[in-house]
Amino acid sequence: MTWCIAALAVLAVYLFWRFPALRKTWYLPKRKGFVALMYHHVGILDDPQAEQFPFTMRPDMLERQILFLKANGYTPISLEELTTAYRAGKSSIQKPVMLTFDDGYLDNYQNLFPLLKKYNVPALIFLITDRVGTPEYMSWDQIKEMQDSGLVSFGSHSLSHRRLRSLPDEEIVREITESKRVLEEKLGRPVTAFCYPFGAGGFDKRVRPQVFKAGYLFDFSTKKGVNPWPWKGKSTLRRAFPRGGETMFDYHLQLTRGQSKL
Ligand SMILES: [Zn+2]
Repeated sequence: MTWCIAALAVLAVYLFWRFPALRKTWYLPKRKGFVALMYHHVGILDDPQAEQFPFTMRPDMLERQILFLKANGYTPISLEELTTAYRAGKSSIQKPVMLTFDDGYLDNYQNLFPLLKKYNVPALIFLITDRVGTPEYMSWDQIKEMQDSGLVSFGSHSLSHRRLRSLPDEEIVREITESKRVLEEKLGRPVTAFCYPFGAGGFDKRVRPQVFKAGYLFDFSTKKGVNPWPWKGKSTLRRAFPRGGETMFDYHLQLTRGQSKL
């Protein structure tokens, strides 16, 4: 009996080592709630060794993911719907998910926007205000066109994308408040969502209160997981991170466990 259990343990270790697909979160319990998905680039990058490969989702894969959401009863929600549920403390929306995109890359306008329009799916894009209109990033005209479609909301990803907790207090405040001011001036509407540069390691007890002091309602991080629904605030919003090159099984794990691998 003992040798039988030992043999099974050895076999399990071997299988985990031999097949990376087994080293995923399928064995964790499924979690219900609000899944904020984090993306960056939308485009085609063929070299899996490239630094941006995990941060680049192929348009055809993103399309499959949107179709998967529709086929499986998920509801892609807008920032406005998140705000309404947050303010009311209740919501009848079933299986809410939100598509979020960090940095404001030009390929979001070129490759993501047509998909959002095709499937009538809302999204939230976090802009680095100093980089708007520079090479590889969207222009204010493109941003306004997306906003006018009613499908895309914009949040702040700071002025200059520096690691906020490494900055002196006055710089932290400037990155958070000045980016909000610029966005509100350019977009003509309140900006209520902030996303920390460098995600989970990008904020601390000194940084986070400044976000709310500046008047934001929501702070998005790269802490992985599924959020409670309706969202009640208190902690930062966790995000699941579908990476370039991942399969639809990974996507299913992202939506049900908040992450595909440990
Ligand atoms: Zn970023």
